[in-house]
Amino acid sequence: MRMDKQNLSITPSEVIEYLFCPRFIFFMNCLCIPQHEEKRYKVLKGRELHEEKQKENRDYLRKKISCVQKDIIVYLSSSRYHLRGEIDEVLYFADGTMAPLDYKFAEYKDTIYRTHRIQSVLYALLIKDNYQCEVRKGYVCYIRSKYLLKEMSFSDKDFENAQQIIKDVLNVIQHGFYPSKAKSLARCVDCCYKNICV
Ligand code: SF4
Repeated sequence: MRMDKQNLSITPSEVIEYLFCPRFIFFMNCLCIPQHEEKRYKVLKGRELHEEKQKENRDYLRKKISCVQKDIIVYLSSSRYHLRGEIDEVLYFADGTMAPLDYKFAEYKDTIYRTHRIQSVLYALLIKDNYQCEVRKGYVCYIRSKYLLKEMSFSDKDFENAQQIIKDVLNVIQHGFYPSKAKSLARCVDCCYKNICV
């Protein structure tokens, strides 16, 4: 999170934390209590993968979906959407539209998780605002399923929904709003905040 009240911006990862449990953002950003370090494993693993991906340059994926050009590891920010983040690949299509591609160090399990979808919609908002172009699709590449590539179509509702979630996260950060608990209380069992979360 960047804490300039006017230009406050959050990252898709912070949005995903919020979706896992809305109180994470409150404890981390309002009370400044960090999560345990072991939770950072996935983040570190992600960083390693970023480096590998740069080297790999999987052009055959691009050909598979008829994309005409791509930018790799693109950092974008948008004051309009109060967002910032790094996109694995920004894809260009012949019809003038663009799309984000996100690599996941995960297996594809018959469905695209809601969090993966929302993350891609957030990247799409960043692309729309920075490249001033239409974004109707997003892609997730599942590394542990032999680089299986999945396409998602985005509707206006997806963009509205993503913007509402951003608004909710900002409400916690800017106004110290204490949000509701995680939807599933099973998430509380191993939570590092369980002793202070009332
Ligand atoms: S204990 Fe449960 S509700 Fe509280 S922060 Fe952790 S996951 Fe969220």
